[in-house]
Amino acid sequence: MSEFSAVELIIAKRSKRELSTAEINWLIANYTSGAVADEQMSAMAMAILLNGMNRREIKDLTAAMIASGERLNYPGLSVPTADKHSTGGVGDKITLPLVPLVAAFGVAVPQLSGRGLGHTGGTLDKLESIPGWRASISNVEMQQQLAEVGGVICAAGSGLAPADRKLYALRDVTGTVEAIPLIASSIMSKKIAEGTGSLVLDVKVGSGAFMKDLASARELAKTMVDLGNDSGVNTSALLTDMSTPLGLKIGNALEVEESVEVLAGGGPADVVELTVALAQEMLRLAGKTDIDVAAALKDGRAMDKWRQLISAQGGNPSAKLPVAKHSHTVMAAESGYLGQVDALALGVASWRLGAGRARKEDAVQFGAGIELHAQLGDRVEAGQPLLTLFTDEPERFARAQESLAGGIQITQFAPAARNIILERLGNG
Ligand code: URA
Repeated sequence: MSEFSAVELIIAKRSKRELSTAEINWLIANYTSGAVADEQMSAMAMAILLNGMNRREIKDLTAAMIASGERLNYPGLSVPTADKHSTGGVGDKITLPLVPLVAAFGVAVPQLSGRGLGHTGGTLDKLESIPGWRASISNVEMQQQLAEVGGVICAAGSGLAPADRKLYALRDVTGTVEAIPLIASSIMSKKIAEGTGSLVLDVKVGSGAFMKDLASARELAKTMVDLGNDSGVNTSALLTDMSTPLGLKIGNALEVEESVEVLAGGGPADVVELTVALAQEMLRLAGKTDIDVAAALKDGRAMDKWRQLISAQGGNPSAKLPVAKHSHTVMAAESGYLGQVDALALGVASWRLGAGRARKEDAVQFGAGIELHAQLGDRVEAGQPLLTLFTDEPERFARAQESLAGGIQITQFAPAARNIILERLGNG
């Protein structure tokens, strides 16, 4: 006879009752083993979405998901570890320059990343556009690379938080992704199991993000910061703007290209600003203050680290990146200022061009995406190129352009200057 009944727990949460630690542990262990069925866990996810969970329940849910699998650690490492997690955005390639930048200052970065689904891109898809680069490495290889190079970006193995893997796939098809207790426990179970000593969360706010408004982003950030610190991971969060894409390039190889520009001391100012701010925060949490972070982008230290990092996983950092077979440039219909460049519209257009996937099994096109020729607030003249669309399949242009309609607006007055970093929450 089982200790609890899944139906009774679903009814309890449906009736807004708090679940006990023992009930949550039982639910997650039995869902992982298959004894609690997908349809029962779907109903529970919906009950949680509608009725929420308190801080203790979210902490227990996260701990139960961590306990469903292995927990990594780096006993032989002589330097501190720090990582960053972004809740996902359009043109968000920050991990690529950030990991080598932080590693260049002697803080090791054990970054377990994911693939893109929907309109936001995935770090692994971007890096896989580099010829030879391997996303999957063993735990031992990861530990070795961390000790030798000081950084690693790789796929989370199937042993890490398997309960989350199952639950996330279920939420994806049952309309239960957007629940703060579920998002927070999903992200933090993987980050805590990854074994990092410090963690900076980049919680995106705006049309291209999960969280469309500041209040809900703040609530998600606070929930995750508390979960991290309660579990002994030194955690803070930056709330950052995702109403318009980051940088000028969106798409897998295009974002690698822009990241390399940043590592070479150039690149768009917004990408540089956020990379430097997140690096400073990671280094601060790891105990390194008063560092001129930006200098390592200018003098080649971060670029050297990048080349080591890519080579260590079989990639050729000097190889030519894939280029799409077809391109189409959209011109400005009138003169004025770019008053709106909507992140969601651009993200969906890039996805429709083939940069993202509709189902987990789909392949992405490495060369597909969008290059902007101007950013929010820039002055543009009628007839000048505004953006170029790239794809291997020209029949995709029409659908991509449909999603751009209304997303880009030229206005007669310059919009208010954009703040990229909106708030900071957490330790210190
Ligand atoms: N990313 C995750 O890993 N989990 C979520 O629930 C949402 C985003």
